[in-house]
Amino acid sequence: MSATPRKDPVAVEAEVREKIHLEILKRTGAYHANDHVLLPSGQHTTEYIEKTLVTMEPSFTEGLGAVIAKHFAQWPVDVVLSTGPGALILSHCVARAHPSRPVVVYGTKGLSGGKRRVSLPTLNLLINLVEQLGAQVVGVGCLWRRTSVELSGRPVFSLVSRDFPTYDPDACPLCKKGVPLNEEFVRRRHARRPSSVQEPKAP
Ligand SMILES: [Zn+2]
Repeated sequence: MSATPRKDPVAVEAEVREKIHLEILKRTGAYHANDHVLLPSGQHTTEYIEKTLVTMEPSFTEGLGAVIAKHFAQWPVDVVLSTGPGALILSHCVARAHPSRPVVVYGTKGLSGGKRRVSLPTLNLLINLVEQLGAQVVGVGCLWRRTSVELSGRPVFSLVSRDFPTYDPDACPLCKKGVPLNEEFVRRRHARRPSSVQEPKAP
């Protein structure tokens, strides 16, 4: 008689933790699933994370930052380097919770074609910059990681690791099924442009 094979307890723990993190992201309203979403790139997808909503609830942001800090707590850290101003609130929370009391610095990058995305090139750019200055990258902490993304062997800790397919509109199975397209996030991005800010009317 053979015993039922048990799952590796470390893997189970990681799975449970990830479920909790995903639940927190859902509660912030940032995570959307089972939808038909237009991405800023023009592609369509079923899942989407609206990063700006993650940091609207300070206690959630602090909690998520503390989880990342705890993961890297075993290493002395001088600097938490944020990929840009958008990630700065979470970076602050990571730095605040890390026992080394690191400082927070954020990188800026030129806008190309009006788009700015935190992508693999952005991270590699920052990693190279850090190493050129003679410092060592302890690791990369992030909210969400597409499992298909590799960072040339760098240790990456993400609160959630999930991949979801993106489709060109021509080849999108949801479009073929006639599912209405959710353009809310792209519209909201346009609404955030400073040009939409109106001067108060003179009395
Ligand atoms: Zn579609």
